[in-house]
Amino acid sequence: MISAATTILYMISSVLFICGIKLLGKADTARKGNKLSSVGMLLAVVTVLLEKEVTSTAKNPPLTNAYIWVAAAIILGSVIGAVWAKKVEMTGMPQLVALFNGFGGLSSLLVALTQYMTDKNINVFSSAALGLTIAIGAIAFTGSVVAWGKLSGKMFKKNIIIPGKNIINAIFAIIGLCGAAAYSLSVAGLFDASIGKIGVIIVTTVYLILGFTMVISIGGGDIPVIISLLNAFSGLAAAFAGLSISNSVLVVSGCLVGTSGLILTLIMCKAMNRTLYALLFGSFGKSAKNGGSGEQKEPKSMSVEDAYLILEAASSVVFVPGYGMAVAQAQHAVKELSDKLEENGAEVSFAIHPVAGRMPGHMNVLLAEANVPYEQLKTADEMNPQMSNTDVAIVIGANDVVNPSALNDETSPLYGMPIINAYEAQTVFVLKRGKGTGFSGIENPLFTNEKTVMIYGDAKQTVSALVTEFDEP
Ligand code: NDP
Repeated sequence: MISAATTILYMISSVLFICGIKLLGKADTARKGNKLSSVGMLLAVVTVLLEKEVTSTAKNPPLTNAYIWVAAAIILGSVIGAVWAKKVEMTGMPQLVALFNGFGGLSSLLVALTQYMTDKNINVFSSAALGLTIAIGAIAFTGSVVAWGKLSGKMFKKNIIIPGKNIINAIFAIIGLCGAAAYSLSVAGLFDASIGKIGVIIVTTVYLILGFTMVISIGGGDIPVIISLLNAFSGLAAAFAGLSISNSVLVVSGCLVGTSGLILTLIMCKAMNRTLYALLFGSFGKSAKNGGSGEQKEPKSMSVEDAYLILEAASSVVFVPGYGMAVAQAQHAVKELSDKLEENGAEVSFAIHPVAGRMPGHMNVLLAEANVPYEQLKTADEMNPQMSNTDVAIVIGANDVVNPSALNDETSPLYGMPIINAYEAQTVFVLKRGKGTGFSGIENPLFTNEKTVMIYGDAKQTVSALVTEFDEP
């Protein structure tokens, strides 16, 4: 295959990626965007199979035959990916995405290391790109593994505080970059190849550790933002890998992932009242003071029947959904209850926090699935000024996103995060199963607030029971 045709095919794949990502921007065109991007990826893979370096191995024995290796990788990857994606619960999706980011970083890292071992005629520019691929790929890999552990609750659940974290991280970053520079200088002929080799070992090791030390102490409301940043890193690593091996489609797709990840990170930082600087170098992981100021008040609870009587008299109701609604899959029951309240003459809104649930837009996706009209979904900025005039706020499996310590407790890991001010409503119903904490693991003073009553039980069952109350004559 002549390289002009390869270039054209790569260009077509790149255009398909760009159109695909544009369509992903709106819910009703997202599926089409996904399909278009998949076709782009298929075309890119087929084009790789037509590259000279691959076709020249067609008659080689299995161990050195690129077709066998690519086919094995496609079959193995597709089977594992399909089984995994099918099995995963909706609530487990974020940790899967975090792990996929990590695998993206690992792939770029492996591409760069293979390039280092096999390309003896590499030029200085490609060697610099290779060093950066190793650095960013390594950080994306270990950082994502830590984020996966925190999200799934399998590892690193407690925020580990590393004294002098920023200084340690800065030293690691500088040592790693020196390693990458030593490799490039060895390619330029200024250092011996053995020094270049040590440089590659250093940058790989140090940046693998850096991903770990950077993310381990991040917790509370900052984990979603750091996942988005790691996503951007995995894209950036792929883009540098593309520069290093002169593959245009990898550069384009890496840039798309990198820039869209960075834009999402900045949007989430804004929504969470954080700066990118504070996210990376701020004092995360202050120890959580479980229990707050000392005296342990017990939350009041209420039966569904009594709660119904209050709801029946309410003229304005705000639902505040959170992760527990996703766990209970209560969105359809919530829509039914919202319809009953509207039939009863109440004005109903949904207050959606940017990090409610376990992935950006989690609540919007669930409520859209249950056909809740888009106009009823309000942001914290839109809803909070009206909260004090709201008769009842129904908190459905939300915890951190309604925790007032984020506003008034400087020692709280959540401090500074905007919340849905449910505590300002005239009456607050909190639907949860028991005394479980939220993702941040800290207590929530809202539950012992004078105006708050707990309705214990699975959110779907509680909401369905409330709907039944409305149905009964
Ligand atoms: P939280 O994780 O703070 O709280 C969820 C609550 O739901 C728990 O307190 C739990 O209490 C309750 N719950 C669980 N299952 C059920 C059920 N079946 N029925 C009723 N209640 C249930 O959720 P929020 O949405 O308030 O906050 C999201 C948190 O996740 C934030 O800290 C955010 O930073 C973090 N995060 C968000 C991501 C994102 O992108 N959106 C990604 C990663 C993390 P109990 O066990 O007592 O029932």
